[in-house]
Amino acid sequence: MKIILKLKLFLYRFFSTTLGKGVLQLLSFGVKVRNLENRNSLKKFPFLVIITTDAEAGYVTKTERRVWQKENPEAFIGYYSGIRNLTNIFEKHGIKTTFFLSTQCFSSKGTEYKKIKNELNSTIKKGHEIGLHLHPDSDFALQKKLSKKFEATSAFFYGYEEKLEIIKAAKDLVRENLGTASYKKLISFRWGNWALDTGGAKALNKLGFKIDSSAVSGIKGHTHDTMKYDWSIVSRHYPWKLSITDYLATNHNNSKVMEIPIATFDFFGMGMRADPVNSVLLNKAFLEYYEKADRSKKPFPFVVITHSSEAATKDGKVTQTLKDLDRFISLAKKYDDVEFVTLKEANKIINNN
Ligand SMILES: [Zn+2]
Repeated sequence: MKIILKLKLFLYRFFSTTLGKGVLQLLSFGVKVRNLENRNSLKKFPFLVIITTDAEAGYVTKTERRVWQKENPEAFIGYYSGIRNLTNIFEKHGIKTTFFLSTQCFSSKGTEYKKIKNELNSTIKKGHEIGLHLHPDSDFALQKKLSKKFEATSAFFYGYEEKLEIIKAAKDLVRENLGTASYKKLISFRWGNWALDTGGAKALNKLGFKIDSSAVSGIKGHTHDTMKYDWSIVSRHYPWKLSITDYLATNHNNSKVMEIPIATFDFFGMGMRADPVNSVLLNKAFLEYYEKADRSKKPFPFVVITHSSEAATKDGKVTQTLKDLDRFISLAKKYDDVEFVTLKEANKIINNN
């Protein structure tokens, strides 16, 4: 294992302990959200909390290491147990959420396929939203459907026509496996690894998507590999209409796709996402947004990201991240005017105000 990965794991394990959480709490004054620029403190409209789960293969090992879909595409436990563990928590709190599904799950077979389908159907029945999530390089169902091998996750590595073809095929997989009703309700999207680009935005608009939540304002990563994503020059935390001529522009207003970005924040200059993996920092970031985001004219959507693969161990048990997500929901629920909604519902509420 690379030394940097070892260090990250060590830090994660430490900051998950009671002592570590105490230390983080002391340091949480380092959490800052730039560009919320609120001159109006009137909190007239609700604060919407939108929990989003990227549903994919993988699991968490005993040492808290993450096995991602890319490393083990056939670790389907990340789908059936991960989704089950998450929906149990959501049910306990009585909230609705959004799942971004990587269609790799449809390459499973036999009992695993049955388990996944049952889990997805019951998730839909409970009122959660299913959106689309793309990892072309680790999605064998997609590759089989198009009789092509894909080598990259990121949209930057595919031409416009190819992106169109990939997204269309993924949508068709949803129809074939989950039915026409689910296919028709598929209006939300997140590119794997946040790696959307301009052609991707154009393709989403063309294919009738209404919501994208790939943006992580102020953050970039994997700049030199096939997972490349770059939102570093975007500073906006409020929704905007995605641009089909430059995905980084927030003022073009030339598409029908609403970008509802994942909430991001700075921790001593480091860009971070609103993710329960960041435990107490997520709670602090929530408070920053809750206090400072402008709600005088519209509700504010606070988007949290987690992964189904981080909600299950190799044998399907609950994980530390899941417990931290549970705690975050309990905390957020205590605040006035907080509403837990799906992305689809959030978009509707925002458009009606
Ligand atoms: Zn993903």
